[in-house]
Amino acid sequence: MFDHPGKKVQTLAFVLSVLLGGAALVIGVLLAGTDVLISVGVILGGVLVAYVAGLLLYALGSLVDNSQEIRASLFRLENGDFEPEEPATPAVRPEKPERVGRRFSSDEGEKTWQCDCGAVNPNRIKSCSCGRSLDEVVANRLGQQEE
Ligand SMILES: [Zn+2]
Repeated sequence: MFDHPGKKVQTLAFVLSVLLGGAALVIGVLLAGTDVLISVGVILGGVLVAYVAGLLLYALGSLVDNSQEIRASLFRLENGDFEPEEPATPAVRPEKPERVGRRFSSDEGEKTWQCDCGAVNPNRIKSCSCGRSLDEVVANRLGQQEE
């Protein structure tokens, strides 16, 4: 019964405005027999009052309507459509490559071997990108020492 009071007040404003204006018109016409000036005054004044009163009431209805919509939007913003986890998820994602990068950087501290081409490879990688294998490079250097 009292749902959407803003819309109901707006409707009420229109109905009351029409009823007041109509009543002023009827009373004015009924008074026409006694005094024309009073009759015209009642009609014009009554219609004006009906219009202004209706306008004010309609404005009040809009005010209630808008404030309810704003409150609902705020509630949705705070609790509903925008979940607090959502902004946290992209903040976590960059951490994963960071961790991987840290692991790689700590691996750089492990033992390495330098290929004849000049590239430095970690010991767990047995063949260089140039095609030489670790064993080849070691054998080659041992051979150079023997010469
Ligand atoms: Zn190499």
